[in-house]
Amino acid sequence: MSTLSIIGTPIGNLEDITLRALKVLGSSDLVLCEDTRMTKRLFDRHGISVPTKSYHMHSKLSRVDEIITLLKAGKNIALVSDAGTPGISDPGSELVSRIRKECITEISAGELKIEAIPGPSALTSALSIAGVPCADFTFLGFLPHKKGRETLFKEITASERTMVFYESPHRILKTLDSLVEHLDTAKKVTVCRELTKIFEEVVAGSAQEVKAYFETHTDKVRGEFVVIVSRE
Ligand code: SAM
Repeated sequence: MSTLSIIGTPIGNLEDITLRALKVLGSSDLVLCEDTRMTKRLFDRHGISVPTKSYHMHSKLSRVDEIITLLKAGKNIALVSDAGTPGISDPGSELVSRIRKECITEISAGELKIEAIPGPSALTSALSIAGVPCADFTFLGFLPHKKGRETLFKEITASERTMVFYESPHRILKTLDSLVEHLDTAKKVTVCRELTKIFEEVVAGSAQEVKAYFETHTDKVRGEFVVIVSRE
């Protein structure tokens, strides 16, 4: 029996990792990492020493063949990304999809298992502290830079549902500009910045108010951002 474990890791605070994640990481034959140097910081903090190999967006298809061969040989492999949950705006889903297709016989025979070791995600962390309706919501990942961007802003504006997306420090002001342009003033914008880190911050208000805040506090236009648009 071999296992591919998809493991959630911290989004900033290195203590945000489950006991099960530490146990599985420490006993894996191989850990696939988006960036081995980032994962080393986590391993050093928790005294884990196991072989690592890179697996990222640009990994060749042959890397997946290598992984499948190892799994078929009975090895236990873990997958982590630089932060949060693999597959959520991060590498992982293509690998899982190929393994589900190409190892269908082993999976049905109970010889190979793909398991979730859940952990943090910026998406759920932001929603948990924003105080917005989140019984149902739409997650948009990163907004496109050009094609489809306008259409998406129209969708965000028209939706009654809470809309969540990821944004970088280089584009947050531009995105807030677009929200000011499109949103009606009754809509609430919540920006969650640097979650779980020293400068964690939640800024909420109309698009205009949130934009004015970041234009005034230019020192805060850095780090990592989750943007939420909601009706209240
Ligand atoms: N897989 C990750 C997850 O589960 O949240 C997301 C990875 S994605 C490449 C990185 C983006 O997630 C960042 O640009 C930012 O928008 C968001 N993000 C990650 N960590 C964050 C944090 N500590 N605070 C706010 N946003 C964060």
